[in-house]
Amino acid sequence: MSPRWRNWGRTVVAHPREQLLPGSEEELCDIVRSAARAGERVKAIGAGHSFSAIAATDGRLLRLDRYTRVLRVDRERLTAEVQAGIPLSRLSEELLVHGLALPNLGDIASQSIAGAISTATHGTGRGLGNLATFVRGLSLVGAEGEILRCSAEERPELFRVARVGLGALGIVSTVTLQCVPAFPLHALEMPLRLDAVLEALDEHVDGNDHFEFFWVPHTGWALTKRNNRTERGIAPRGAWAEFRDDVLLSNLGFGLLCRLGRLRPAWIPRLARALPSAGRVEYVDHSHRVFASPRLVRFSEMEYAIPRAAARQAISRLVEMVKARGFLLSFPVEVRFVAGDDIPLSPAFGRETCYIAVHVFQGMAYEPYFRAVEEIMRSYGGRPHWGKIHFQGEDTLRELYPEWERFQAVRGALDPAQRFSNPYLIHVLGRPAERADPFRSSSPARATSGPAA
Ligand SMILES: Cc1cc2nc3c(=O)[nH]c(=O)nc-3n(C[C@H](O)[C@H](O)[C@H](O)COP(=O)(O)OP(=O)(O)OC[C@H]3O[C@@H](n4cnc5c(N)ncnc54)[C@H](O)[C@@H]3O)c2cc1C
Repeated sequence: MSPRWRNWGRTVVAHPREQLLPGSEEELCDIVRSAARAGERVKAIGAGHSFSAIAATDGRLLRLDRYTRVLRVDRERLTAEVQAGIPLSRLSEELLVHGLALPNLGDIASQSIAGAISTATHGTGRGLGNLATFVRGLSLVGAEGEILRCSAEERPELFRVARVGLGALGIVSTVTLQCVPAFPLHALEMPLRLDAVLEALDEHVDGNDHFEFFWVPHTGWALTKRNNRTERGIAPRGAWAEFRDDVLLSNLGFGLLCRLGRLRPAWIPRLARALPSAGRVEYVDHSHRVFASPRLVRFSEMEYAIPRAAARQAISRLVEMVKARGFLLSFPVEVRFVAGDDIPLSPAFGRETCYIAVHVFQGMAYEPYFRAVEEIMRSYGGRPHWGKIHFQGEDTLRELYPEWERFQAVRGALDPAQRFSNPYLIHVLGRPAERADPFRSSSPARATSGPAA
């Protein structure tokens, strides 16, 4: 297999020593054991959809494309145990067969479950936390190739931190997820004036199960999306309408505007005015088909999590800054909302959160814009998405997370030799300090796997 690896956004290239395709938990353990003997690093990757260098390695890179099964579904408890590499799209389709769904998803579903939870991937919905909050149990392959199972009952301290582990604690082997009965969503998308959206922001966020909007730079428009649970039957868009909205307009048409803008940046403000004409879209479909849609236009992205109470002011400052600095932007700014949680390295730790994401078309300079946005977000105690670009390091990040040391204690105990580390993790987390290991001494049970119920 080619030794070169690059991420989806083409922002990171790595040259792993070896790329491996394990198909079982035993193989995962063997690979880690043999890397430990050879003193090499190991990194599991998912779909490579992180924009940051969090997944890069010069050691042994484990692709989990053969480790993607649903192992067990418990219809009473509404839980599913799955192998770490399963893409969210396939997981959602398989859950539907069992009458189940994940409570929320982000705007694509290509990520693996392990990659998604490791970086605290999220959707929108004020009552719902990021995807890692749906995790009820995990099994992790530790630095010596041993299996560590954890849940709220078993190794609770490991469980608390490992749900958003950044890939720094071990290889996630299986994940048990809390699901909900499958549910249809009524989707309503329409442009509104940005001022009106900000004026009634709390009503939008609190009055919908899932509300988000995209501010279109160089215009006063916001493209709003409201997804609500409904008793109505499934009434999806026809194949043509879906292709027109999700492929022709949102991807091919939008990609063309982006390419024109890259060629002639001075045209961008005029091109941007074509976006709000996307019009009103309304349909009812299975939840995962509403949450996620294809993204064919490549871009670079930064996203910050700030306290929800600061959302309106932060967005207004961002809009003013873009005008004042004269940035020419072809991509909208995305704004979403999630519930606070108790996961030490989750950007939503301890507070209701507004996520603000900025994007730049592939091949265009992003750093001046992202740095200017970062400065605003940092003034609100903003925490960066671990899977997206940012410019912070351990020195500034540690003070943003009240339970930073709790995570570091577990990391120091589990991976003192930095078997799972890489330059990005050393930059954002520092080097693990060796600590006594409270986990291995408790005679770890070997994880078992079986067919889906
Ligand atoms: C088009 C696009 C849309 C996106 N939309 C959203 C969105 O709506 N919401 C959002 O929050 N984010 C979004 N993201 C970001 C994305 O969800 C995260 O970066 C996510 O981590 C990517 O998952 P992945 O499977 O590609 O993981 P990768 O990027 O491959 O890996 C991410 C991290 O997880 C680790 N990891 C992966 N598998 C394992 C394992 N088995 N054990 C231990 N560690 C592991 C890797 O080592 C790495 O540290 C988007 C990204 C793109 C490109």
